[in-house]
Amino acid sequence: MNSLRIKILNRSGAFFLLILKRNPCKMNPLLQHFNTAPFSKITAKDYKPAIKEAIEIAKKEIDAIVQNTSAPSFENTTEALDFSGDKLQRISSIFFNVNAAETSDEIQKIAKEIAPWLSEFSNDIMLNAPLFERVKTVYEQRKNLELNPEQQMLLEKQYKGFSRNGANLNNTDKTSLRKIDAQLSQLSLQFGENVLAETNAFELHLTNSTDLAGLPESVCEAAAQLAKQEGKEGWIFTLDFPSYIPFLTYADNRELRKKMAIAAGKKGFQDNAFNNEENVLQIVNLRHQRAKLLGYKSHAHFVLEERMAETPEKVFSFSNDLLAKAKPAAEKEFIHLAEFAKKRDGIDQLEKWDGAYYSEKLKKELFDLDQELLKPYFQLENVIDGVFKIAKNLYDLVFEEVFDIDTYHPDVKTYRVTGSNNAFVAVFYADFHPRKGKRNGAWMTSYKSQYVKEGINERPHVSIVCNFTKPTDTKPSLLTFNEVTTLFHEFGHALHGMLANTHYTSLSGTSVPWDFVELPSQVLENWCYEKEALALFAKHYKTGELIPMNYVEKIKESASFHEGMQTLRQLSFGLLDMKWHSEDPSKITSVKALENEAFAETQLYPDVPENCMSTSFSHIFQGGYSAGYYSYKWAEVLDADAFEYFLEKGIFNKEVATLFKEHILSKGGTEKPMELYKRFRGQEPKPEALLKRAGLV
Ligand SMILES: [Zn+2]
Repeated sequence: MNSLRIKILNRSGAFFLLILKRNPCKMNPLLQHFNTAPFSKITAKDYKPAIKEAIEIAKKEIDAIVQNTSAPSFENTTEALDFSGDKLQRISSIFFNVNAAETSDEIQKIAKEIAPWLSEFSNDIMLNAPLFERVKTVYEQRKNLELNPEQQMLLEKQYKGFSRNGANLNNTDKTSLRKIDAQLSQLSLQFGENVLAETNAFELHLTNSTDLAGLPESVCEAAAQLAKQEGKEGWIFTLDFPSYIPFLTYADNRELRKKMAIAAGKKGFQDNAFNNEENVLQIVNLRHQRAKLLGYKSHAHFVLEERMAETPEKVFSFSNDLLAKAKPAAEKEFIHLAEFAKKRDGIDQLEKWDGAYYSEKLKKELFDLDQELLKPYFQLENVIDGVFKIAKNLYDLVFEEVFDIDTYHPDVKTYRVTGSNNAFVAVFYADFHPRKGKRNGAWMTSYKSQYVKEGINERPHVSIVCNFTKPTDTKPSLLTFNEVTTLFHEFGHALHGMLANTHYTSLSGTSVPWDFVELPSQVLENWCYEKEALALFAKHYKTGELIPMNYVEKIKESASFHEGMQTLRQLSFGLLDMKWHSEDPSKITSVKALENEAFAETQLYPDVPENCMSTSFSHIFQGGYSAGYYSYKWAEVLDADAFEYFLEKGIFNKEVATLFKEHILSKGGTEKPMELYKRFRGQEPKPEALLKRAGLV
């Protein structure tokens, strides 16, 4: 099989013919040369051999870099490393996208088998000492190499990729680092398992129908079904979000809301085998030790080095600035809500389990807007057409539906995207409706990223996948307003991918820091609220009548309802996250005490002593959001500030759109995001636009 590998690497037609002759039954479509993904030719059994083969190809490419007898140079090392593994990248993107959008038991089983192959492969690269030697040699000469900013960024990113994984450490420290990493992955796994066990251990079993007062029928039905599954009478509510959130929002029975809220707040904080206090302390201490070992002041310093925010100081000043501006509004909203609850039900002290319930009641009183009234104005086809028109107005893009591109399901639509002078820009896939085998939610992804190689600008293949209301025999697909903004959001990510114009894959399109990646998506959502944009597509599917603007005004107002309290809540989580990760944690003995300290400035409701947030804060102790929770608000500040510029000059202003395209959408991660942003906007982002949009000033 060795010759096969090398020949495929050459990508020469003649060699393929040769293989065809020699191996007529073993043609794996994934290992042939293809342009768009050859979905209809692929069967599940093709994936494993193809990925195995592609890993071998990538290893050979890396070996060739290491064994190069010429002195390390930017071209033969930095650039060569970035272009390596191209085949593996393309095959695994097809596989993982299919696993998300059109999976099966067989595909899921394969995913479990290949995940360790891929992590082993990337670990091998990270631990490849001779490879790092070459990367480092180039890095140390960087001042004399006359590199352009993109090349400098590639070199820096690559070098950091190794050094942040310990490549510069001596052997003893390397061993310590591996030990810490192993402990950390064990601990976060344990943390997550404990949260899950606690979530599953609790249920609220009701047998009296009066206790269901206030709850929507669909929620009760689901609860009845759950009870039935467990062979019980009545209704069962759990701490899973689809059960818990509606219960806290709608259940009239205050005692039961309290019971649910306290049970949820206790996760990982009870005197039992699933207590997470010790895990939290161990995780933050190990993260701190790891950061110190690598030469950073704290875990937050380590994480933020690669973010737009760059330092903990910046995150703190950003959060505290926003806090100072949002807090008066939040306090006013809280007093108003407390008065409402007092007047309505004689509540003397508003507690945590009252917030969602009375907010919902108040919101209904203030803006009673039936989603069903809006839907006829948002027929899916019209909304897609609208988003395409907006892309044409802003960026001269033309979307032409084509029928000669292979797809993984007949529902998937394909488009050829061209720009000014008819130049080919991208292939765009859109997969809109739910079906068995597709996971929930909506996402943007790509099958091929943009890059320039040997003078050829390889254009990307970008896809969005959603789960929108399906058409019926009598009605077309009519979207809720939330689905409309979701489509715009994902399309904004897609524009970032499609308009990419960089040299290197690892810096292309959406390959940008975490706290910057939501700018293109969130900014596009703003067009959904503007009359001038809605006029392009929000027309009644039967009568063609344009959506009444008072509906839109109501949507806008209700979207910023209780924004002050929401902001305070988000900031409180972000500040707690930073508190855990920006200081030396070795002296901390009480999780709850540290938490109270972190929450001091953001607390509106009385503390519940038997509850603790950190012990089930999976975002930061299980997932990858440590020292990153702030980025939710950060991204909102960015998108509001960017859109403010469009509002000043006109939402279809070509000049602003061109600046956004030139400096943000096409640039990917080729330069520091703050530099790119300033070049677009002429200044650093300010929170004022967000505060204004949210009605806080
Ligand atoms: Zn997004």
